[in-house]
Formats: sequence, C-alpha cells, structure tokens
Amino acid sequence: PKYQSTALIIGVTGIVGNSLAEILPLSDTPGGPWKVYGVARRPRPQWNADHPIEYIQCDISDPDETLTKLGDLHDVTHLFYVTWANRSTESENCEINGKMFKSVLDAVIPNSPNLQHVSLQTGRKHYLGPFELYGEVAHDPPFHEDLPRLDAPNFYYTLEDILFESVKQKEGLTWSVHRPGTIFGFSPYSMMNLIGALCVYATICKHEGVPFKFPGTKSAWDQYSDCSDADLIAEQHIWAAVDPYAKNEAFNISNGDVFKWKHFWKVLGEQFEVEDGGFDEGGERVSLVEMMKDKGGVWDEIVREKGLVVTKLEEVAVWWFVDVILGGECMLDTMNKSKEHGFLGFRNTKSSLISWIDKMKGYKIVP
Ligand code: NAD
Repeated sequence: PKYQSTALIIGVTGIVGNSLAEILPLSDTPGGPWKVYGVARRPRPQWNADHPIEYIQCDISDPDETLTKLGDLHDVTHLFYVTWANRSTESENCEINGKMFKSVLDAVIPNSPNLQHVSLQTGRKHYLGPFELYGEVAHDPPFHEDLPRLDAPNFYYTLEDILFESVKQKEGLTWSVHRPGTIFGFSPYSMMNLIGALCVYATICKHEGVPFKFPGTKSAWDQYSDCSDADLIAEQHIWAAVDPYAKNEAFNISNGDVFKWKHFWKVLGEQFEVEDGGFDEGGERVSLVEMMKDKGGVWDEIVREKGLVVTKLEEVAVWWFVDVILGGECMLDTMNKSKEHGFLGFRNTKSSLISWIDKMKGYKIVP
C-alpha cells in the first residue's frame, strides 16, 4: 500500500493540531508514510492549507454530524485528539468535553477496523486542578505521572475515563495520554496561545507608542517557568503512536529546560522593536483583559495598515489566558517517565520562542 498509517487529527487548526498536520506527512516521520485526515469546526484557514492533509469540516459537539462525517472513514489507524471546549464551570466542561470525545470514538472505533491507537492530549491541569480552583487544590510540584487524581472536578479525568472504557471495545487497541504545560506554538485559532497573544500585545504597544509592560505578577516575573513546544508535543504523540514501549501510559511533556520571564520579556520586545517596559515594581497589576477590552478597532487598523492576514482580535489574543498564566508561579513537571520510556526529545525554549514568533510573522499574523 501507498501508506503505512492513517492519522485522524481532531482539532487540526489548533496549536498542536497544526504541528501534527505539518509533521505527520513528512517523509521521515516514524510510522510513515502517513495519510492524514484533519478535523476542525470552521472552514479551512489559509495558514493551514499548505499541509498535505484531507481537511474535514465537522462540529464534533454534534454527535449526528460526527457519526456521518467520521463514520464514513474506514482506514484510520491512529487517532490524535487535540481539542477541547471551554465552558464557564468545570462541571459543564466535563459534560461537553466528554460528549465530544465520546462522539468521535463512537464514530471511529466501529468504522475503522484497523484502528490501533488513540492518543489523547490533556495537560498539566491534571495536577493543578481546573482553572476555577487555580492555586487551591494543586499537588506539590514537580509533578510526576503517578500522582493520584485530585479531589476536584476535572474534564481531563472525564476524558481519560472515556478513553479507558472505549479502548476495551476493540482487542489490541492501545492508548496514550499527553500532559503539556503552557504550549508555545502557532495557531491563530487556538483557545489558549500565550505567545500569539503576547505578540499581538507587543504589536499594539508599538502601534500606540507605549512601553511593552509585563502584565503579570512579580512571582511570574522572577521565578522559573517552563513550557511545552507544540512541535515537541506532536513528536511525543507520534512516538507514542508507533513505539510499543509507550503504549497505555500517560506522559508529561515539557521542553526540558526552564526560563524566567524577566529574561524573555526583553527577547520578545526586541522582536517587535517596542520599548521594553519591564515589570513595574511599584505599580498595581493591570489585567490584559481590562487593558485590551477596547482594542478591537485598533487591531483592525493595524491589520489593514500592515497588510496582515485578516483576523479578529479575540481570535488571535485570548487575554484571560495570559492573565492566568502570568498571574502566578509556574508549577513545574518532570520528564523522567517519558525519558525512561525512550522519548528523549527536548527544546531550547529561547530558540522555540523566537521560531514561533518568526512563524507568526512569516504567515503575516503579526507585522
Ligand atoms: P486549541 O484550542 O489550540 O485548538 C482546538 C482545535 O479544535 C481547533 O482546531 C478548533 O477549531 C477545533 N475545535 C474546537 N471545537 C471544535 C468542535 N466543536 N468541532 C471540531 N473542532 C473543534 O487546542 P489545544 O490548546 O491544543 O487543546 C487541546 C488540549 O490541550 C486541551 O485539553 C487543552 O486544555 C490542553 N492544553 C492546552 C495548552 C495550551 O497552552 N494551549 C496547555 C496545556 C494543555
């Protein structure tokens, strides 16, 4: 056959979905040559169109549509689930995300007889608790995969339970769970894209001639942070999909180094030639949600003036997420388990940061 494996990526325009769509079709990707299907809710955006994949527009929160469109595929060997829905409470998150994941599994497992592996992405909130309980229920870091579940609602637990139950339907079907921290990657459609939002913030500061001030807290500024590069996460998904030693396990995934925002802020500012406002020791914290609430028109003007790809401010910059991430200390994980099982990938986070900024500029999302 022309292809050795067939991937179905759910959330193909997201921050990791876009990386998977870029990496899977490459000729030297393990398990390949890969045929790739990619699902997302909206029409295919131009910045995703270069990837040699079959794009399927499907709203997976609609079980009928999901069954029709995904049940029609019969050759899927590997499923990569890299999406989610955000509601106002965690119990609603459990409900909607559980429903979406289950619809996908119910459409794919019975209709793709060669399905071998389901790779589920969750995240570090497995150890931190949901956003609504941030800082209240977390385990003591560094987080490792063997820690018990927290006694708090968490849609990641719902997804895992559905996964464990669903794979029983088919003999030999394996799974893996991937738990990144804050992701550095490229996606103008992501519900959480820290670097994307910070690039937009820097661009707006530059446009308005105001200093680029760190919008976070002193502990976020001074203490160690880490992150998870989207390409690295994609590499771990693919490793788990093909390596027998990675089956039926959950893995943390982070770059393997640490950084401080007080060092990276300068790097970010330099990329946009904006005056570095640093951290205001004496000032009161101003949230970006507050600061940016009336900037939609300013963004439209910048997009026109600089000839950027047309985007809406609320798409490219999800401010609440930046406020949360820069609002406190970053709690670190450990990559020991992943390394012990044979995944030795890592990223230099400073190079990773600059490469994602370059990519945003290259695709004309920011000037
Ligand atoms: P994302 O927000 O970047 O992308 C989501 C993708 O799913 C997009 O392609 C979107 O179009 C698609 N999508 C959304 N709703 C859909 C629907 N109803 N039907 C079909 N497609 C739909 O995703 P992400 O950030 O990679 O999130 C995946 C998982 O990773 C989540 O559990 C998230 O909590 C976790 N995570 C994310 C980050 C981060 O920094 N982004 C950090 C840690 C963990």
